[in-house]
Amino acid sequence: MRVPAYVGLGSNAGDRRAFLAFGLNALLNSRRVDLLGLSGIYETLPVGGPKQESYLNAVALLSTTLDTRELLELIAKAEDKAGRRRDAEERWGPRPLDIDILAHGDEVISTPELTVPHPRMYEREFVLVPLFDVGLVAGTSIDFDRAEAALRKLRGAQGVVLVEPPDWL
Ligand code: ADP
Ligand code: MG
Repeated sequence: MRVPAYVGLGSNAGDRRAFLAFGLNALLNSRRVDLLGLSGIYETLPVGGPKQESYLNAVALLSTTLDTRELLELIAKAEDKAGRRRDAEERWGPRPLDIDILAHGDEVISTPELTVPHPRMYEREFVLVPLFDVGLVAGTSIDFDRAEAALRKLRGAQGVVLVEPPDWL
Protein backbone atom coordinates (compact mmCIF):
# COMPACT_ATOMS: atom_id res chain seq x y z
CA MET A 1 0.00 0.00 0.00
CA ARG A 2 1.20 3.52 -0.77
CA VAL A 3 0.88 5.97 2.08
CA PRO A 4 1.90 9.55 2.87
CA ALA A 5 4.66 9.79 5.48
CA TYR A 6 6.20 12.83 7.14
CA VAL A 7 9.86 12.70 8.20
CA GLY A 8 11.83 15.24 10.21
CA LEU A 9 15.51 15.72 9.40
CA GLY A 10 18.12 17.30 11.65
CA SER A 11 21.87 17.85 11.74
CA ASN A 12 24.14 19.68 14.16
CA ALA A 13 27.61 18.40 13.33
CA GLY A 14 29.87 18.85 10.31
CA ASP A 15 28.42 20.24 7.06
CA ARG A 16 24.86 20.30 8.33
CA ARG A 17 23.19 21.34 5.11
CA ALA A 18 25.01 18.63 3.15
CA PHE A 19 23.94 16.02 5.71
CA LEU A 20 20.28 17.02 5.36
CA ALA A 21 20.51 16.67 1.57
CA PHE A 22 22.40 13.40 1.91
CA GLY A 23 19.78 11.99 4.27
CA LEU A 24 16.83 12.96 2.14
CA ASN A 25 18.48 11.71 -1.06
CA ALA A 26 19.27 8.41 0.68
CA LEU A 27 15.52 7.92 1.21
CA LEU A 28 14.56 9.13 -2.27
CA ASN A 29 17.07 6.77 -3.89
CA SER A 30 14.68 3.98 -3.00
CA ARG A 31 12.28 3.30 -5.83
CA ARG A 32 9.65 2.87 -3.16
CA VAL A 33 9.92 6.45 -1.86
CA ASP A 34 8.79 9.64 -3.63
CA LEU A 35 8.90 13.26 -2.53
CA LEU A 36 5.56 15.06 -2.27
CA GLY A 37 6.60 18.14 -0.34
CA LEU A 38 9.55 19.80 1.35
CA SER A 39 9.96 22.55 3.93
CA GLY A 40 12.60 25.22 4.03
CA ILE A 41 15.68 24.74 6.19
CA TYR A 42 15.45 26.19 9.68
CA GLU A 43 18.22 26.91 12.13
CA THR A 44 17.18 26.02 15.65
CA LEU A 45 18.61 26.01 19.13
CA PRO A 46 19.19 22.54 20.60
CA VAL A 47 16.42 21.32 22.92
CA GLY A 48 17.59 19.29 25.92
CA GLY A 49 20.81 17.30 26.09
CA PRO A 50 24.31 18.75 26.62
CA LYS A 51 25.48 22.16 25.38
CA GLN A 52 25.97 21.83 21.63
CA GLU A 53 25.88 23.51 18.21
CA SER A 54 22.60 24.72 16.78
CA TYR A 55 20.68 22.44 14.41
CA LEU A 56 19.49 22.70 10.89
CA ASN A 57 16.05 21.11 10.56
CA ALA A 58 13.61 20.36 7.78
CA VAL A 59 10.49 18.27 7.21
CA ALA A 60 9.68 16.25 4.09
CA LEU A 61 6.41 14.71 2.99
CA LEU A 62 6.99 11.37 1.30
CA SER A 63 4.81 8.93 -0.52
CA THR A 64 5.99 5.39 0.14
CA THR A 65 5.19 1.73 -0.22
CA LEU A 66 7.67 0.88 2.55
CA ASP A 67 6.08 -0.17 5.82
CA THR A 68 7.20 1.53 9.03
CA ARG A 69 9.84 -1.08 9.81
CA GLU A 70 11.32 -0.91 6.33
CA LEU A 71 11.36 2.89 6.40
CA LEU A 72 13.06 2.85 9.81
CA GLU A 73 15.73 0.45 8.47
CA LEU A 74 16.40 2.74 5.51
CA ILE A 75 16.69 5.69 7.91
CA ALA A 76 19.14 3.85 10.17
CA LYS A 77 21.32 2.99 7.15
CA ALA A 78 21.34 6.63 6.03
CA GLU A 79 22.23 7.84 9.53
CA ASP A 80 25.03 5.28 9.75
CA LYS A 81 26.43 6.27 6.34
CA ALA A 82 26.44 9.88 7.49
CA GLY A 83 28.86 8.78 10.18
CA ARG A 84 26.51 8.61 13.11
CA ARG A 85 27.98 6.67 16.02
CA ARG A 86 25.14 5.43 18.21
CA ASP A 87 27.43 3.78 20.78
CA ALA A 88 29.47 6.94 21.36
CA GLU A 89 26.48 9.24 21.38
CA GLU A 90 24.81 10.97 24.26
CA ARG A 91 21.03 11.03 24.27
CA TRP A 92 19.97 14.19 22.44
CA GLY A 93 23.67 15.00 21.91
CA PRO A 94 25.29 16.21 18.66
CA ARG A 95 24.75 14.13 15.54
CA PRO A 96 25.52 14.58 11.84
CA LEU A 97 22.12 13.23 10.81
CA ASP A 98 18.91 12.41 12.64
CA ILE A 99 15.81 11.35 10.74
CA ASP A 100 12.58 10.77 12.61
CA ILE A 101 9.35 9.35 11.28
CA LEU A 102 6.72 11.88 12.30
CA ALA A 103 3.86 9.91 10.81
CA HIS A 104 3.34 6.97 8.47
CA GLY A 105 -0.13 6.87 6.99
CA ASP A 106 -2.78 6.53 9.67
CA GLU A 107 -0.70 4.17 11.80
CA VAL A 108 -0.53 4.55 15.55
CA ILE A 109 2.33 2.48 16.98
CA SER A 110 3.93 2.51 20.39
CA THR A 111 6.83 0.09 20.75
CA PRO A 112 10.43 0.65 21.97
CA GLU A 113 11.65 0.58 18.33
CA LEU A 114 9.02 2.90 16.97
CA THR A 115 6.45 5.37 18.19
CA VAL A 116 4.27 7.08 15.57
CA PRO A 117 3.02 9.71 15.46
CA HIS A 118 6.32 10.93 16.94
CA PRO A 119 5.57 11.52 20.65
CA ARG A 120 7.51 14.77 21.03
CA MET A 121 6.58 16.49 17.80
CA TYR A 122 3.86 18.67 19.36
CA GLU A 123 6.36 20.21 21.79
CA ARG A 124 8.94 21.07 19.16
CA GLU A 125 8.77 24.22 17.14
CA PHE A 126 11.57 22.90 14.91
CA VAL A 127 9.14 20.17 13.81
CA LEU A 128 5.89 22.14 13.79
CA VAL A 129 7.11 25.17 11.83
CA PRO A 130 8.53 23.17 8.90
CA LEU A 131 5.53 20.83 9.07
CA PHE A 132 3.20 23.70 8.27
CA ASP A 133 5.61 24.80 5.51
CA VAL A 134 5.02 21.48 3.79
CA GLY A 135 1.30 21.59 4.35
CA LEU A 136 -1.19 19.09 5.52
CA VAL A 137 -2.45 16.05 3.68
CA ALA A 138 -5.30 13.77 4.60
CA GLY A 139 -4.59 10.20 5.57
CA THR A 140 -1.99 10.58 8.32
CA SER A 141 -2.27 10.14 12.05
CA ILE A 142 -1.02 13.67 12.77
CA ASP A 143 -3.55 15.68 14.75
CA PHE A 144 -3.34 18.96 12.85
CA ASP A 145 -5.67 20.83 15.18
CA ARG A 146 -3.38 19.90 18.03
CA ALA A 147 -0.29 20.85 15.99
CA GLU A 148 -1.78 24.23 15.13
CA ALA A 149 -2.75 24.93 18.74
CA ALA A 150 0.71 23.88 19.94
CA LEU A 151 2.43 26.07 17.36
CA ARG A 152 0.31 29.09 18.29
CA LYS A 153 1.26 28.61 21.92
CA LEU A 154 4.98 28.16 21.20
CA ARG A 155 5.29 30.80 18.50
CA GLY A 156 8.83 32.13 18.56
CA ALA A 157 9.79 30.71 21.93
CA GLN A 158 12.36 28.19 20.69
CA GLY A 159 14.36 30.36 18.30
CA VAL A 160 13.50 28.72 14.96
CA VAL A 161 14.76 30.83 12.05
CA LEU A 162 14.30 30.21 8.32
CA VAL A 163 17.69 30.05 6.59
CA GLU A 164 16.72 28.61 3.18
CA PRO A 165 13.48 28.45 1.19
CA PRO A 166 11.96 25.05 0.31
CA ASP A 167 13.83 24.67 -3.01
CA TRP A 168 17.11 23.70 -1.31
CA LEU A 169 17.34 20.06 -2.42
P1 ADP B 1 15.64 11.13 18.96
O1 ADP B 1 15.36 11.13 17.49
O2 ADP B 1 14.40 11.11 19.82
O3 ADP B 1 16.61 12.19 19.39
P2 ADP B 1 17.38 8.89 18.45
O4 ADP B 1 17.35 9.29 17.03
O5 ADP B 1 18.69 8.89 19.14
O6 ADP B 1 16.36 9.75 19.29
O7 ADP B 1 16.72 7.48 18.66
C1 ADP B 1 16.84 6.54 17.69
C2 ADP B 1 15.86 5.39 17.95
O8 ADP B 1 14.56 5.88 18.21
C3 ADP B 1 15.73 4.54 16.70
O9 ADP B 1 16.64 3.50 16.75
C4 ADP B 1 14.29 4.09 16.70
O10 ADP B 1 14.19 2.71 16.99
C5 ADP B 1 13.62 4.89 17.82
N1 ADP B 1 12.38 5.52 17.37
C6 ADP B 1 11.20 5.47 18.04
N2 ADP B 1 10.24 6.13 17.39
C7 ADP B 1 10.81 6.65 16.26
C8 ADP B 1 10.31 7.43 15.18
N3 ADP B 1 9.04 7.83 15.13
N4 ADP B 1 11.19 7.76 14.20
C9 ADP B 1 12.47 7.38 14.25
N5 ADP B 1 13.01 6.64 15.25
C10 ADP B 1 12.18 6.26 16.25
MG1 MG C 1 15.92 10.03 15.76
